[in-house]
Amino acid sequence: AKEDGRNTVRFFEPWMQHAITARTRLIAELRRALDAGQFVLYYQPQVEDGHLMGAEALLRWRHPERGLVGPGEFIGVAEHAELILPIGAWVMRAACEQLARWAACPRSAHLTMAVNISIRQLMEDNFVRDTLDAIAATGARPTHLKLEVTESMVIERVEETISKMEQLQRHGVRFSLDDFGTGYSSLAYLKRLPLEQLKIDRSFVRDILVDPNDASIARSVVALARALGLSIIAEGVETAAQRDMLREIGCHRFQGYFFGKPMPAEEFDAALAAETIP
Ligand code: C2E
Ligand code: CA
Ligand code: CA
Ligand code: CA
Repeated sequence: AKEDGRNTVRFFEPWMQHAITARTRLIAELRRALDAGQFVLYYQPQVEDGHLMGAEALLRWRHPERGLVGPGEFIGVAEHAELILPIGAWVMRAACEQLARWAACPRSAHLTMAVNISIRQLMEDNFVRDTLDAIAATGARPTHLKLEVTESMVIERVEETISKMEQLQRHGVRFSLDDFGTGYSSLAYLKRLPLEQLKIDRSFVRDILVDPNDASIARSVVALARALGLSIIAEGVETAAQRDMLREIGCHRFQGYFFGKPMPAEEFDAALAAETIP
């Protein structure tokens, strides 16, 4: 639609054209990356009262030229291009495989696996069946699988979302509400969601020691979780002081650089064997 001659309309400015080209290229590259096996899961420790309870699976792209690329650079584009469906399916399968490997070793048999779910995945008709298939095919224990959903995703199609979550819950799968406090959850339906856990967003943890508002929000999230009978975990914990403050307000599950960065499975297992993760 773009022509530079006289009497023609220019729909795209050159900078827009560049952005579109870059995006199209990224989509094609992501598709190839999936086929070429360039995606990998990193695992970040989640600890409770000084004990390792599990990990969150975080997606990475081992790019042949650019090295390790984080999800912030491609998840958004993948979501718009529906590529998040095959990528999300790969993540689920890989996470369940790792869960099954952990289950086979006494030292790691108790570990849970948190997996991030995108709204596009949850909206898919086959999501429940595909998830149960991944569990069955790998032999992972469903009770050790924790799906992290976000508030925005829950708000869009409440009835449909609740129904799917309940179907999976009946099979033992747990749910954690990610980034809690950054969206607009109404308490009325928060109560209806089959959740096991609320996750205090990193943005409140970051300044919890210096910003009284953030400390108040964290306190309210803990109180809310208690009132609803949910457990609570804080993400983005980087210092002992933040951990101590969180403990003081009643949060005893943590995730963050203070306890361990996201790492490849081999490194996670080595740390587990060496007992360098709490
Ligand atoms: P998230 O679910 O909120 O994940 C936590 C992010 O915080 C991760 O970034 C993690 O590396 C980072 N993080 C952990 N501890 C600390 C800390 O102490 N300090 C700081 N500053 N950051 C910390 P990452 O891995 O880049 O992932 C970014 C986001 O991409 C995730 O945010 C999640 O929304 C999305 N994501 C990651 N993996 C997947 C996936 O497999 N599927 C989908 N749909 N989304 C994913
Ligand atoms: Ca998450
Ligand atoms: Ca989060
Ligand atoms: Ca976040």
